[in-house]
Amino acid sequence: MAESKHFIENFIDKDLEEGVYDHVQTRFPPEPNGYLHIGHAKSIILNSTMAKEYGGKFNLRFDDTNPSKEKTEFVESIKEDVKWLGADWEDRLFFASDYFDRMYECAEKLILKGKAYVSDLTADEIKEYRGSFTEPGKDDPQRDRSIDENLKLFREMRDGKYGDGEKVLRAKIDMASPNINMRDPVIYRVAHMTHHNTGDKWCIYPMYDFAHPLEDAFEGVTHSLCTLEFEDHRPLYDWVVREVGFEMPPRQIEFAKLYLKNVVTGKRYIKKLVESKVVDGWDDPRLVSIAALRRRGFTPESIRKFIEISGISKSQAVADYAALEYCIREDLKPSVPRMMAVLDPIKLVIDNYPEGQSEMLTVPNNQENEALGSRQIPFGRELYIERDDFMEEPPKKYFRLFPGNEVRLMNAYFVTAVSCEKDADGNITVVHCTYDSESKGGNSPDGRKVKGTIHWVDAKTATPVQVRLYENLIDEEKADEMGSTYDENGELYLNPNSLTVCEAYVEPALKEAKAYDRFQFVRQGFFCADYKDSKEGAPVFNRIVSLKSSFVLPKEV
Ligand code: ATP
Ligand code: MG
Repeated sequence: MAESKHFIENFIDKDLEEGVYDHVQTRFPPEPNGYLHIGHAKSIILNSTMAKEYGGKFNLRFDDTNPSKEKTEFVESIKEDVKWLGADWEDRLFFASDYFDRMYECAEKLILKGKAYVSDLTADEIKEYRGSFTEPGKDDPQRDRSIDENLKLFREMRDGKYGDGEKVLRAKIDMASPNINMRDPVIYRVAHMTHHNTGDKWCIYPMYDFAHPLEDAFEGVTHSLCTLEFEDHRPLYDWVVREVGFEMPPRQIEFAKLYLKNVVTGKRYIKKLVESKVVDGWDDPRLVSIAALRRRGFTPESIRKFIEISGISKSQAVADYAALEYCIREDLKPSVPRMMAVLDPIKLVIDNYPEGQSEMLTVPNNQENEALGSRQIPFGRELYIERDDFMEEPPKKYFRLFPGNEVRLMNAYFVTAVSCEKDADGNITVVHCTYDSESKGGNSPDGRKVKGTIHWVDAKTATPVQVRLYENLIDEEKADEMGSTYDENGELYLNPNSLTVCEAYVEPALKEAKAYDRFQFVRQGFFCADYKDSKEGAPVFNRIVSLKSSFVLPKEV
């Protein structure tokens, strides 16, 4: 099926057809002030895919023009994340701060053209002079300073003669513009700060709205894809590249951000969760930072698929986390082995199975994918089963183990529950059963049917491991009821059960699981060995996603 093109592809087609550009150059321009999240994945995938689709190039550029919030730690993590998602910048890794000299020259150029001036107003005064949506702004008292004086003052700003906030450079555009961004925006400010890349070389720094279009233009970007909040900044973007005089100015195109319902995405908000220790770092598997998704076990393919089905458009929509879960399930269902793990174990003793005997059963690794082969698993007289797979007094429609009921032990035998033992508090500790030795492989010799099939592991050879189950950090029910994920004090409605740690038993083969190995644990979901907490021979498993889903793909994509 030929997929229909989205509006950005239509723009690019038109530009190429009309000869506005003869190639495509895109970029992803993160500010290194935090870890990337699933929203950024949309931008990364969009920008890199457009370059690929049109035989163009994709740059990674750090927008590091604000020295107060940026850190090298974030630069490294962002590079790792972008690479992991499969976006290839080849040898085009850039830093906006490497352009400071050129940006400075552009500012002088504007001054010489009479298009920029030095202002003595304070930040508050500038705000006040700016006017409002209904009122035009007022001219800056220094708006008509001579070119020579502006040049002299700007150079003094650069040379450290003024303190922070004492002087700024403003673009001379139009104080009566209906677009407030065009009312003589500040383009350079004094800030005596050490920059992570340029050190103390500069004490003036360009403002985002001035720096960003220049960065794009310096790199020969053709299509500068950004999110909708920059739509009102586009006239200023165009003004900057035009006034500085680029021959082939980039075109800015805005698209809607990716939002997930009831999920914390913004960098600022994730940061708050990290700093307040609600979560255990930027890669806590409950977060949707790229690092967290990777750690939890999501694949780059599943994230790309999710971005694809979410679509690229100009109208703001909210995506469903269930759609992301759908994508990882579809990815892993045929590709990973299906193993047995008992997350909340109680013992099952088969009274009529010979004491001291054990056997190996051959089981397929994945019924949907023969290429994954088969394996041998040990079986014996004592097993572990899930606590909730036995009930002494079952409700209606409970088809698992209860006294007198027969079930299938997956890939093994039919067993019938007989009785149970309890501890002093009345908790069941051991279930007794008998087995039908003729039902090996899970089929009865006489065609007898059972309604329940349960999984198990052999007690003697099972490996004890830690398994972590996750739920949404946000209390979704509460958030839906209140119509917001935050309460009146700006605090999240937190789900107290977002993390459950299980002391589980798994098949012995899982003992050798390595970081990022993924499995289906039958009846429980898809799991990934944690890269941080797993030790040699003692893996820790994170549940990526359970098996159940209420999500339906809207249309075949
Ligand atoms: P946040 O919104 O989390 O604070 P940001 O926009 O401040 O992020 P930047 O580093 O400035 O983060 O963003 C880099 C690029 O990623 C920008 O082009 C931005 O438009 C894009 N981007 C950020 N958030 C999203 C999102 N939710 N969906 C799509 N693109 C996004
Ligand atoms: Mg930002």
